[in-house]
Amino acid sequence: MFYRVPAAALILLFAGVVPAVAQSAAAPTAQPATVSTEMADARFAAFVRDFRAEASAQGIAPQTYDRAMAHVARNPEVERLNAEQPEFTTPVWTYLDSMASDRRVSDGHIKLLEYAPVFSSVEWKSGVPKELLAAIWGDESNYGEATGRFNMFEALATLAYDGPRAGYARHELIAAFKMLEKEHYDPVQMTSSWAGAFGQMQFVPSSFLLHAVDGDGDGKIDLWNSPGDALASAAQLLDDYGWQRGAPCLTEVFLPQGFDYALANLETEKTPSEWAALGVRSVSGAALGGSGEPGAIYLPAGARGPAFLVFGNFSVVLKYNNAASYGLAVCILADRLRGGGRIVGSWPRDEVPLLPVERIAFQTMLRAAGYDPGVIDGVLGRGTRAALRAWQKAHGLAADGFPTKALLARLAQDAQATRR
Ligand code: CA
Repeated sequence: MFYRVPAAALILLFAGVVPAVAQSAAAPTAQPATVSTEMADARFAAFVRDFRAEASAQGIAPQTYDRAMAHVARNPEVERLNAEQPEFTTPVWTYLDSMASDRRVSDGHIKLLEYAPVFSSVEWKSGVPKELLAAIWGDESNYGEATGRFNMFEALATLAYDGPRAGYARHELIAAFKMLEKEHYDPVQMTSSWAGAFGQMQFVPSSFLLHAVDGDGDGKIDLWNSPGDALASAAQLLDDYGWQRGAPCLTEVFLPQGFDYALANLETEKTPSEWAALGVRSVSGAALGGSGEPGAIYLPAGARGPAFLVFGNFSVVLKYNNAASYGLAVCILADRLRGGGRIVGSWPRDEVPLLPVERIAFQTMLRAAGYDPGVIDGVLGRGTRAALRAWQKAHGLAADGFPTKALLARLAQDAQATRR
């Protein structure tokens, strides 16, 4: 779901795909740079010229289009960021260290005090706890500090004329024109991230059209400058996706010895009492209650890391940004803002994430061993994890589906033994 473009999720989605633009932006080739730059500029100009008809067909007045696109040029920095494929992925514990840092907690407490009446009114109307809204605010824009530094039309047009996100960007560009027509903004002042997410809550234009509201009651919706509008709009989005009043997002749990790790995936839901019957218990020692609704066991770092029982509200946070690590970061930060403690379980910090070439090797060896991971693309998605779980189970290992260097070495060893 692209309410905004979750960097981590997109890295997974697009890993292994090197768009043509990317190569010219990332590394100078034998071809003179000016030639490819001229060609790209020409293609961009053609897009800006031709997309006007598409926008018009979708109800955008030609004057709106021309006003928004008047000063727009192909932005090489956006192209570079769009093509970036980091060699090293960030482990979830490092990501959480920064997303739910002590600094972010103390800044959040200050914001909760500073905007206490706004938070109270939004919480009262929507049922979304103020700490959760503050956590999203902190993680999206560092409490309103980073609202985007690119021109929205320039960023989206650069993504839209070519490259792996063209479909997404064309859709959002149309929504941005609609935003402009509806709210009468100055297009020059409409800033966004390179991926088109904007304002204090990093909405994308299409989510603005669906969910944004005038929270401070001044008759305008300004997600860049009004915390009241930004917080109320985020709450509205969560409410629209079924946020349950009074229900938790997640709770940290201990799993018993001999737990069947194949049950630990976001698709297998059981009620807290069913989990308790399997020996799952809350780290606080309190009964595994919640609201009694079913939940799933989520292991962000496999069997060696902490375990969480996640509920429906966790899935609602994922509507905001569809990456489980993001949902975890927001819910953990919210808990800490509410006065809750840190995560009790320890992270396997000695674990080094697999390199792209190792991820490909992982899939290739699973397939060779008779466990089909699906397409060999270096993306360790659902298919690869299912294949890995089956292989782990057959080898008497904890079937957590979490790929590690040790498992890669074991797969390689087995493959060698089979060849002998
Ligand atoms: Ca307003």
